[in-house]
This record gives sequence, structure tokens and C-alpha cells, in this order.
Amino acid sequence: MNLRQLGSRLAALQGRILMTLCVAAALPSAQAEPRPVKAVEVAKNAWFVQGEAALGSTANRNFISNAGFVVTDDGVVAIDALGSPALATELLAEIRRVTPQPLRYVILTHYHADHIYGLQVLKAAGATILAHESGKAYLNSDTARQRLQSSRRDIAPWIDADTRVVPADRWLDQEDLTLRVGTTDIQVRHVGLAHTPEDLVVYVPDSGVLFAGDLVFRGRIPFVGEADSRHWIESLGRLIEIRPKVLIPGHGPASTEPVADLELTREYLKYLRTTMAEAARNLEPFDDAYAKADWSRFEHLPLFKAANRMNAYNTYLLM
Ligand SMILES: [Zn+2]
Repeated sequence: MNLRQLGSRLAALQGRILMTLCVAAALPSAQAEPRPVKAVEVAKNAWFVQGEAALGSTANRNFISNAGFVVTDDGVVAIDALGSPALATELLAEIRRVTPQPLRYVILTHYHADHIYGLQVLKAAGATILAHESGKAYLNSDTARQRLQSSRRDIAPWIDADTRVVPADRWLDQEDLTLRVGTTDIQVRHVGLAHTPEDLVVYVPDSGVLFAGDLVFRGRIPFVGEADSRHWIESLGRLIEIRPKVLIPGHGPASTEPVADLELTREYLKYLRTTMAEAARNLEPFDDAYAKADWSRFEHLPLFKAANRMNAYNTYLLM
């Protein structure tokens, strides 16, 4: 083959590769297989499953949040329950894959839909559900009812008429609690009012793993909602002091550089507060203040478009 023939062969090959890439890119995402619930061990006896960085939908089965579990010599402690009963069933199967120990407890970091719709399955499996008592307000709220109704419509058939919001079996009213399960200490700390009033985090000193719930978001913009960002910033400071070795956030991948992630979330919240407080003080219209702010440190993060403007607006109103 001479050089010219080789050149035209290469060009043809390149064309075929390009075409393949374009066809692959054009495939509708609905055809993609939903992400399986797959437990990954992040430290000795500490596992988690990672949801997608997306909004809940029928296609992703509402698998948009993480859940974790800790295996002790006297049973398993799960952290959060995932976003639909089917996902919780898969979580149970993953627990059974790695240990014969029974599921004893579920510690709920907070009552948000994407973390709780699997509770009924875990309770039926024999687990005692623990949550902070500030979460009681959610159970009978309009927010909870409306959210469940819209989830039944938007995330059918994964959320259906049988899906319920399950109360805790044990409501914690203290700041800190250490559960001793077998020979493992499980520290439960109330860090709300931050993302929600009832925020709990779970720390396992043996392995240095911190399950941080939605106080820390990795690889995406947090939903600030009507959260109290001042107290949230303080709580992040308390978590930084723990100096955990591994951090499992409520959303996104596990982190082996927890302090950096805690600091990034804190920086984001601080920036929201500083810019929006200044605007509110100067009676500057929100749109102007938003356009003027420099979001470059955060705009590359997933869900920036979906969440940032709302976060800024809520903070502006708060101020
Ligand atoms: Zn969440």
C-alpha cells in the first residue's frame, strides 16, 4: 500500500469512527439501562451505594441519592433508605451479598423524598428506624403529601399508591448519641438546622467514615431550599473538626479528601450569603445581583443550572 492509499484508508476509518460516535450520542437516554444499586466498600465494614447526579424520574427509578451501611459483629446499620421501595429491596440484597448479619437499624439523615421512600421495605425487613424528632413536622405536612402525590405521577411505577412516608420508631431528642452495635460505636450527631431541621450525620470512629447526608454535596450543586445557611456553615465547621478519613455524601461519589469537600460546600454557602446579603442591604434587585456575582468557581458543577439561581434567590429572600 502506498502512502496515498494509506491516507485514504485512514480517512475512511476516521469517518466510520465519527459516525459511530454520533449515532451513540444520538441514542435517546431513556434506552440506557438504569443504574444498578451496587454496594462499594469505602473502608473496612463501611459500604455505600451511589445514586445518579440527576433529578428523580421514571427512567432512573428515583435513584438519585446515596445510602450507606456499616457491618458490625452484631448486625448492620444502614444510613438512609433510597428513593423508592424497589431500590431499598436492591439495597437489602446488596447487604445480604456482603454479610449474613441482619439489618438492625436505619438512621435517617433527613426526611427528604429521595432518601425515605425505601423505608417501608427496610422496616419490614426488621430494622428499627431512627431519626431526629425535628423530622416529625414533615410527616403530616402539606409538603410531604404534595411531594408524594407528584412522585406517584412523575416516578411511576416506582412510586405508587402503596408508597408511604414512614415515621421513625425512635425519635432522637438529644444532640449526640452513640449507638453501640456489637463492638462498633456508631456516633449519631444532630447538625440541623442546616439542610433541614432534622439533619443527622453518622460517624464511625473505627474506620473514620462520616456519612454526612445532604450537608455535603460532592460533584454537584447542593439544593439549599429554605435551609438556614448560617447554621449550615457552622455545622460544616464542626464536621471539619472531626477530620474524617472518608466521607459519604448524600449525593455524589465518596471522598477520601473530606476536608476539601466540606470546605467547598462551606465556600459555596458563604459566597451565596455574602453576595446576596450585600444585594439585600443595598436594596439591589435580585436579577442584577445574580448577574453581577462571579459563579465561575461553581458553574462547572452538575445541576448548577437547575439549582444555583434558586439557591441564590432563596438566600436573597432569607437576607
Ligand atoms: Zn438529598
